[in-house]
Amino acid sequence: MSTEGVIYRVAGPVVTATGISPKMHDVVHVGNEQLMGEVIKIVGDRSIIQVYEDTTGVKPGEPVTNTGLPLAVELGPGLLTSVYDGIQRPLPVLREMTGDFIGRGATAPGLNRETKWDFTPTVAVGDEVGAGSVVGTVQEGPILHKIMLPPNAKKGKVEKIEAGSFTVEEPVVTVDGVSYPMMQKWPVRSARPVAEKYNPDVPLITGLRVLDTLFPLAKGGAAAIPGAFGTGKTVTQQSLAKYSDADIVVYIGCGERGNEMTEVLTEFPNLKDPRTGESLMKRTILIANTSNMPVAAREASVYTGMTIAEYFRDMGYNVALMADSTSRWAEAMREISSRLEEMPGEEGYPAYLSGRLSEFYERACRAKALCGDDGSISVIGAVSPPGGDLSEPVTQNTLRIVRVFWALDTKLRERRHFPTINWLTSYSMYDAQLAPWFQKNVGDDFPALKQWAMKVLQKEAELQEIVQMVGSDSLPDEQKITLEIAKMIREIYLQQNSFHPVDCYCPLSRQYKMLSMIKKFSDLADKALKAGVAVDKIIYIPVRQRFQQAKFEEKIDEELVAVDKDMDEQFAKLEA
Ligand code: ADP
Ligand code: MG
Repeated sequence: MSTEGVIYRVAGPVVTATGISPKMHDVVHVGNEQLMGEVIKIVGDRSIIQVYEDTTGVKPGEPVTNTGLPLAVELGPGLLTSVYDGIQRPLPVLREMTGDFIGRGATAPGLNRETKWDFTPTVAVGDEVGAGSVVGTVQEGPILHKIMLPPNAKKGKVEKIEAGSFTVEEPVVTVDGVSYPMMQKWPVRSARPVAEKYNPDVPLITGLRVLDTLFPLAKGGAAAIPGAFGTGKTVTQQSLAKYSDADIVVYIGCGERGNEMTEVLTEFPNLKDPRTGESLMKRTILIANTSNMPVAAREASVYTGMTIAEYFRDMGYNVALMADSTSRWAEAMREISSRLEEMPGEEGYPAYLSGRLSEFYERACRAKALCGDDGSISVIGAVSPPGGDLSEPVTQNTLRIVRVFWALDTKLRERRHFPTINWLTSYSMYDAQLAPWFQKNVGDDFPALKQWAMKVLQKEAELQEIVQMVGSDSLPDEQKITLEIAKMIREIYLQQNSFHPVDCYCPLSRQYKMLSMIKKFSDLADKALKAGVAVDKIIYIPVRQRFQQAKFEEKIDEELVAVDKDMDEQFAKLEA
């Protein structure tokens, strides 16, 4: 089997070579500069390669070498806080080597080879271990990094293991004659195995009221956030990265403009993790593949991020993976497909678009890991449909797969209603499965409250059509009240300012309290109306203003108690 060949043809990121006899997805080095690429198609003796670096100037006749290995990531201590490109090259290291414009052929390993980590064994000589067993730990910032045997390790007895300070390549444990270092490698296009997948019946708590209450995502589930430019995809994803109850965050900046990624890169290290008080970066891995970087590396970036996420899930952690934006990922597929001269499907996307999307989202799961602990990967994919048109193929194919849909709405943005998640078109198919959890952990009537709120909002939408035709004066008093209650749900509850120090995060207990109070207001208003109180008196009751402002108060929970009391007193007075 030959590993050396030559370039036959170059078409942008797609290079055809002859003379190598590779397997699909083998990594090859292309041209005089040894640019990294991956075999994506084999036709007779021609190997078609997608190259992860800019191929300008690469010519037919230059050499090609096959490594015989699939595209893999390095997994081990040192991942956290890293900033990688789509094929796990550490960007800060490359920048130091070659300057701001990363030179071609520049390469550095994903995990630093010199750093020594303090390894503490958790098993002893003679213990039986196997695939995925945790054999020790390394404290990596706030995260206890569990050192596991790789998923393909054979069962056996520990022969040798010692505490000490090791690099990622030095052996730390010997099992039946086989030594393992802390580092593992795993091919990015294959899902890492788990012992058992669970039903998604625990929510990923985000602290965003509209999401947690109305459209919850399960841990291990997948959500799509489609929205036109400027509707808040990035802000929502960053808010989830900061506040959701995931232990580890993998953030894939995929094909968006460089300045958006720069924002993430400069902001994350300065953001405080609300749970540990340390820098948010300490539990984060960033994959940055901006629009000016090669498309093939962008194609690979989501798999690189997913494999890293799976590695932390395998330790028993809850991981949140954000991809911003999956549309740019699909565009990378489209570009490569067109270079391959494949038969285009809808809007030029390859016919395998939906297959690739589902393969990716299906790697989200909550599971018992091989080590025996429970972990999860929740995936939140931003979709940026051109012109905000949700009927385009990437959005449509994504919606067939994911079970949560957070639709961002340009009209809401114009009204400065943030987050711009449209309550009439968004949905969560985890709702019923999660209801028992919310009943047990938040309040028995929480699912009922939420259904009530949704009904009021739907009623509002119906009434608004009438109001638009004949004006609100013609509505009966109860309906006037309904409109006011809907307004309170929107303005007090659904609107949430991601940049406000108090409002940015709302714990579930407070969500429950706030929604219960709106419901109580509604009940008191109905009662007052029945007792003959004039509708204006109810609408302009002073406590409403105070309620509206409560979410911005530093001592918000005390303030809510005070508002609650005011509400009782003021309504009692109305009827007096
Ligand atoms: P997209 O990624 O969809 O293009 P962004 O996430 O960058 O849009 O949001 C655009 C702008 O909208 C932000 O810079 C911010 O001013 C505003 N915005 C979005 N979401 C919120 C929010 N939850 N709270 C306050 N402002 C928001
Ligand atoms: Mg954005």
